[in-house]
Amino acid sequence: MRYIEPHAHMVSRTTDDYERLALAGCEVLCEPAFWAGFDRSSPDGFRDYFLQLTRHEPKRAAKHGIRHFCWLCVNPKEAEDPGFAREVMRMIPEFLDSPNVLGIGEIGLNKNTRNELAIFEEHVQLALDHDLPVLVHTPHLEDKRKGTRLILDALANFPKLRRDQVVIDHVEEHTVGTVLDAGYWAGMTLYPHSKCSVDRAIDILEIHGPERLWMNSACDWGVSDPLAVPKCALRMKARGHDTAAIRRMLWENPREFLSRSPRFIID
Ligand SMILES: [Zn+2]
Repeated sequence: MRYIEPHAHMVSRTTDDYERLALAGCEVLCEPAFWAGFDRSSPDGFRDYFLQLTRHEPKRAAKHGIRHFCWLCVNPKEAEDPGFAREVMRMIPEFLDSPNVLGIGEIGLNKNTRNELAIFEEHVQLALDHDLPVLVHTPHLEDKRKGTRLILDALANFPKLRRDQVVIDHVEEHTVGTVLDAGYWAGMTLYPHSKCSVDRAIDILEIHGPERLWMNSACDWGVSDPLAVPKCALRMKARGHDTAAIRRMLWENPREFLSRSPRFIID
């Protein structure tokens, strides 16, 4: 089954993982800028990272027939020092013309601090200035509800921001309704221990319906599974979802949102 993986951190994965993704039917993959497994010691570390995301990773993916797109930002885990973060943000426009860049992300909050919030808002403004979609990371575990609330309040202060140009990722049972009701897209991250399990994600889908909803594996530095999305498709089938419903979640929905970027042209 062909599918789109809308959120995967491939710089943390091996080439074998690309092969497994391709064998499972992954044809398109999107990589938001995030933490590299360690805090970078200088803004130039980000320059190399942005080069990796825009030039090198697309070639690695192409060897397995996978189209690679990316999102750029300073992730919230490294945004606590506003001077550092602004220096990195100043170099982002240099990369926005790269053919695989979709938008600004994954921005958001990690520990819900004032500095993180300020840098989050500056990223939203950067996206507006360049007319780009936005991918938002929400904090984990006990910080998630409060962080999601803070993010929605901050976004509401941008009247020119179109809500259907924003996906709020890592939603769970206690945040998905608020996100969808506010008019944003919502992403469910399938993770072995934290975030959503496959069955919890399908529960959420069955309760809220498929409108403006996608699922992803994240497959980052944490304990994660690059094949979580096709495994969820199998589980959907076992729970009685038909081929059209599965195709909608794994192909049509991510394609619809990602097409907010004029760069996202796929067959
Ligand atoms: Zn991520």
